[in-house]
Amino acid sequence: MKLVIDEGRCKGCNLCTMVCPYRIFQPGTILNRRGIVVPVLDRPERCTNCRLQKLHGRTLCGMCQMICPDQAVRWDEERLFERHRMAIEF
Ligand code: SF4
Ligand code: SF4
Repeated sequence: MKLVIDEGRCKGCNLCTMVCPYRIFQPGTILNRRGIVVPVLDRPERCTNCRLQKLHGRTLCGMCQMICPDQAVRWDEERLFERHRMAIEF
């Protein structure tokens, strides 16, 4: 699974940057076409959901998704044979 911020929905409130225990969401610096500074993801493969959501069959942690007022955070299925990075933190 791949963590995604939907740029079409995000309003740049940065609430997500305050709740992630891994600090995966970081304040962005670049204005997008809508004039919004969308947060950036720092090594999102560290997210518990990216690596374990399927194994457990439910959303784990999920604080970023819960706090987002615009439903802009989601996890996408990775395509078959898509290259992806793995990270495990203890
Ligand atoms: S689900 Fe939890 S660990 Fe994963 S990005 Fe969101 S807040 Fe961070
Ligand atoms: S909480 Fe949602 S709307 Fe706010 S910056 Fe994060 S992704 Fe964007």
